[in-house]
Amino acid sequence: MISEFDIIDRFFQKPTYNGIVGIGDDAAIIPASQNTEFAISTDTLVSGKHFFPDADPYKLGYKSLAVNLSDMAAMGAKPRWVLLALTLPKHLVTHDNAWLSEFSRGFFDLANTYQVELIGGDTTAGPLNINVQIIGEIIRGKAIRRNNAQVGDDIWVSGQLGSASLALKHELQQITLTPEELSQCLPALLMPSARITLGQRLVNLAHSAIDISDGLVADLGHVLKNSIVAARINLHDIPCLPIIKSNLAQPLFRECLLSGGDDYELCFTASEKNRNAIESLGKELNLPLTRIGKILVGHQLVIKDHQEKLISPDIKGYDHFI
Ligand code: ADP
Ligand code: MG
Repeated sequence: MISEFDIIDRFFQKPTYNGIVGIGDDAAIIPASQNTEFAISTDTLVSGKHFFPDADPYKLGYKSLAVNLSDMAAMGAKPRWVLLALTLPKHLVTHDNAWLSEFSRGFFDLANTYQVELIGGDTTAGPLNINVQIIGEIIRGKAIRRNNAQVGDDIWVSGQLGSASLALKHELQQITLTPEELSQCLPALLMPSARITLGQRLVNLAHSAIDISDGLVADLGHVLKNSIVAARINLHDIPCLPIIKSNLAQPLFRECLLSGGDDYELCFTASEKNRNAIESLGKELNLPLTRIGKILVGHQLVIKDHQEKLISPDIKGYDHFI
């Protein structure tokens, strides 16, 4: 079977004209006014694939918007408007409308936080499927792209990685976490934080950015491919929960950290001269920003542990088809 990205490349990737940024970044960028551009993106959550069919509807409403906000964050855009296309099984449309009122409450709680307006959508009956389209605004030419990482850049990540994947492995009964460990990682899976403020503040500090939806290796890989550069990252520098850090010798925990999806943290690259400014920004936003490696000449991603041992490069990110 061909991969998700082969499908896009072979059947849908087309050249764009008139300075538009099309397929291949976290959002498309099109002109809006003389000084501004629109950033536009869409993401779908499928029952049984992206969430359990009995998922808490409040958290699901929240997450449906969060994953879309995250693509705006990755571009440095200010999210403004959304459209919501809902396909609902009839059993969720009950007499008391409990599912719908909780889902919409979760959705609007997050929308109101960022003053994002719901301006349209579609409602159909069928297997539960949630699609959101989002439109943001950004000053012309300021979007942070995946294709501008520069040799010598530091590679940074926000927050902690691997938490959502660890929680999912517990939910799938592949590991057993203590209630305390679970309470530390479950929020990342169920109600991820989109790093909207960080993204906008990185506009004049970062050369490139992506949000980590499919895992660090896969998503940083997109930045390297689009920027035609290589990178080295240090496994033990990647910020994560203590339970992951202390078990990095085990493939399962390493996999959470390197290829676990759904964290929606930002991975960005920036010139060394911006180190102090980025560190101050992290303090100001009360959000850990951690340097995990460097951009190099070439095209490969090299991952080394604290003893300089090469970590197997066969780790892949999440792909819907392989
Ligand atoms: P993200 O993880 O940031 O949401 P994806 O990995 O889903 O982005 O998609 C990668 C790129 O391919 C994006 O620019 C997206 O808009 C584009 N893309 C995905 N699926 C299609 C499709 N069926 N047709 C056109 N473009 C697509
Ligand atoms: Mg993205």
